[in-house]
Amino acid sequence: MKLPIRAAIYARISKDISGQALGVERQLIDARKYAADNGWIVAEEYVDNDASAYRGKKRPEYRRMLEDISAGQRDAVIVYKLDRLTRQPRELEEFADVMAQAKVKDFGVVSGEVRLASSEGIAMARLLGTFAALESDIKSDRLKRKAQEIAEAGRPNGGNLRPFGYEKNQLTMVESEAVAIRELASRYLAGESLGSLTAWLQDNGISSVAGLPWRTTALRQTLTNPRIAGLRAHNGVIVATAVWPAIITPAQHKQLVAAFARKAQSNRRAPRRYLLSGMLRCSKCGNKLYSSARRDTRRYVCMSGPDHGGGCGRLTIVAAPVEEWIAEAVLMRLDSPEIADALAGRAAVDERHSVLVEELQADQAQKLELSGMWARKEISSADWKEARDILDAKLYTIERQLSQITGTNTLDGIAGHGGELRTSWDSLNLTRQAAIVAAVLDFATISPGTGGGRREVDPNRIVPSWRL
Ligand SMILES: [Zn+2]
Repeated sequence: MKLPIRAAIYARISKDISGQALGVERQLIDARKYAADNGWIVAEEYVDNDASAYRGKKRPEYRRMLEDISAGQRDAVIVYKLDRLTRQPRELEEFADVMAQAKVKDFGVVSGEVRLASSEGIAMARLLGTFAALESDIKSDRLKRKAQEIAEAGRPNGGNLRPFGYEKNQLTMVESEAVAIRELASRYLAGESLGSLTAWLQDNGISSVAGLPWRTTALRQTLTNPRIAGLRAHNGVIVATAVWPAIITPAQHKQLVAAFARKAQSNRRAPRRYLLSGMLRCSKCGNKLYSSARRDTRRYVCMSGPDHGGGCGRLTIVAAPVEEWIAEAVLMRLDSPEIADALAGRAAVDERHSVLVEELQADQAQKLELSGMWARKEISSADWKEARDILDAKLYTIERQLSQITGTNTLDGIAGHGGELRTSWDSLNLTRQAAIVAAVLDFATISPGTGGGRREVDPNRIVPSWRL
């Protein structure tokens, strides 16, 4: 009959102020699972709580384990990571010697890639070599693990700025801000816009935690943050009920998230109302002009204020005439020699396109294959990450090149046909018109007006910067 493998589990905490017990618990859970997966029985768990072990103090449980190994009572040792065992090469040597003398063959490292089947000299060399290689990984892995443990315990995670609604300890509610959050939440759910709510905050002298005026993005983040509902999220997933008090209910949190998602959806579907949105710049400050309807007249304006990139706010141009002028200029441009030249290399571009697509598919396939190799333990995590990073960088470059080529595709069938396009221009929908303009025009700079007629546009105010 084959005797079961009697495994020793060794766990140790490092010098951490918080979450120590959890750290050990996590190591033990994973180590037990490792034993079970290998069909080993756990004969004993040795846990040292001495955080200063590295500084030469004795670790009683570690010594006891070595004695048990020497006495022939253990057939395997499991640690969570090599650095749990020891970081000192001399101690590592001693450990390897004890293992060799006791003829203990099995040494398992739960979260590393090492699994040494023997404790002979060659294994020792590997142990030390691997140890050095792993050392750089150790810290970041441990920090990640720690962050996860803290999250799962519902506790806050440091950070320099306090969250709006709570004190700097991230635990104590700031009553006045909690009242504001509840009001903001119910008004948003009642259909009020973020812009209107930031204005309300401004009017009531309620500033952000940084002491600045609120921006809509920050307000959205605050209102959709699970934290205010007493929920602890980690990497975007709610993992626990928080240890701090809730300002709104979890049900309200869900409603808010859903309301923002609906809003985002309807924004995407909203038809474009301005041909040149995002394509005009203020000559005084360089800021983008924003579309704005005032007194039934559509305009492009330079806007001040944090939500608009902090423009000078001192420039405005009536939309219709500048749109007509730019459209006309674009149509003329389509028939220009510059465009003809740009498209002359079209065959070469098509060839390049198919080469790029092939490369893209090959790299994506390789990335999949790589994951498979890692899953089958044919390569280490470190190798996988290194190779994946190389592939990701390649994929990024290829995708950028492809999108540039796709931009010129808009001009298929219309370059050289500006004259014909002019007659059908008004029947094209705004999205199509905007795509044609954007294919040719990078942006146009608008200078201040000299106070002429409203329906006329002074062409000197518009300086196009052509893409093609
Ligand atoms: Zn400006």
